[in-house]
Amino acid sequence: MRALVIGSGIGGSVVATALRRVGVEAVVHEAHDGPAPALGSFLTLAPNGLAALRTLDLLDPVRSAALFPTTRIEFWNGAGRRLGLLDDGSDELDEGLQTVTVMRGTLQRVLAEGARAQGVRIEYGRRLVGFTATDDGVTAEFADGSTAHGDVLVGADGIHSPVRRIMDPSAPRPAYTGLLNLGGCAPPLPVPATPERTMRMVFARRAFFGYQTAADGRNHWFVNVPHPEADRTALAGRDAEEWRRHVLALFADDHPAITQILRASPVDAFRPVGIHDIASLPRWTSGRVALLGDAAHAVSPSSGQGASLAVEDAVVLAACLRDAADPATALRTYERLRRGRVERIVAEGRRRGDQKLVTSRIGVLLRDLTLPIVLRLIALRGGHSWIFDHRVDLADPVPVTD
Ligand SMILES: Cc1cc2nc3c(=O)[nH]c(=O)nc-3n(C[C@H](O)[C@H](O)[C@H](O)COP(=O)(O)OP(=O)(O)OC[C@H]3O[C@@H](n4cnc5c(N)ncnc54)[C@H](O)[C@@H]3O)c2cc1C
Repeated sequence: MRALVIGSGIGGSVVATALRRVGVEAVVHEAHDGPAPALGSFLTLAPNGLAALRTLDLLDPVRSAALFPTTRIEFWNGAGRRLGLLDDGSDELDEGLQTVTVMRGTLQRVLAEGARAQGVRIEYGRRLVGFTATDDGVTAEFADGSTAHGDVLVGADGIHSPVRRIMDPSAPRPAYTGLLNLGGCAPPLPVPATPERTMRMVFARRAFFGYQTAADGRNHWFVNVPHPEADRTALAGRDAEEWRRHVLALFADDHPAITQILRASPVDAFRPVGIHDIASLPRWTSGRVALLGDAAHAVSPSSGQGASLAVEDAVVLAACLRDAADPATALRTYERLRRGRVERIVAEGRRRGDQKLVTSRIGVLLRDLTLPIVLRLIALRGGHSWIFDHRVDLADPVPVTD
């Protein structure tokens, strides 16, 4: 069997690796001209995603490339008062499964290298513009006029997935969450360093700030800004210097460490993008075509699960193609096994993002009063173990039903 994988982001290289492991020839077609190591800021990989990578022998290279472990989140308000701590419990797990933060571009490169080392072919500069699916196979068409034929096609082509648009033109568009995201890195500074393994997140007066101090003293940070919906062109209408001034003004009345970190960062970091999610698609698959990762269920970065879910999808999809009698049954089984879990996590990510939209004086006061109680209740109920304790293993047989 031959699989055409569209997109060599996070999910694409991993699904191709998993497919190779179950005896499917997988060729990845990526629109960019190369691995694009500078694209994006950092993201986290949680124990559920790391365990899925482990089943494909991709865990060690990813851990070696990570910036730092991030097993706890400490919450502050804008005045610098500590509101509470969320410990994800992963320090207690097997060596290697502790949540890590990694630069997205680095992760993408390492996963592509890992896939190639396991026999996957990745073709860069191949932008999918169309495909034709029949009962016997799928033919993909690329912007350079070339085509490729396979038995199945996997759309791992991200939140604005062309595969999704072609497969189901009436599929709902990604929904704007009301927040912009930007991030960067500042050199060592005389600001309060974060405790070991801990990201500090600040519900500031007008926006949300998060940072973690690396062993070398550098501060990796992100900002979420409540903002009306604006497309890429409108956001790019303000240059990075203007955005920097705007963001600094938003944090002017908060703990000074925030503006110190922002001021010390390169201006290039101030290029925000809108945060979108997809709560639920009518379908993720059609015959021999399937969506995976953000293409199927984009989740807000507030969940910390975008990459981990894409990796889980990849392992389950490959196991389904191995165990089902035919490709269409395999892809339907994959959707059935994954949908409930990921939609619940997308909703959780949206809830967390909504808390960042609160900026009224009374709303902020209420949040400062209730958040410590909420965090203690979450800890008492075992944290978010329903997210982190989930395990997918390529070796496990799939319960195929149709
Ligand atoms: C440029 C970029 C920056 C990001 N930055 C962050 C970040 O800072 N923090 C964070 O938490 N998440 C970020 N994300 C999202 C994060 O990577 C995903 O949520 C998650 O990793 C799921 O990955 P995925 O494989 O489903 O999609 P993605 O990682 O988005 O990968 C999709 C891939 O498909 C390719 N593609 C798209 N269209 C076509 C086409 N027509 N033909 C061929 N290939 C195509 C894209 O170039 C990309 O490589 C970013 C995504 C991108 C694309």
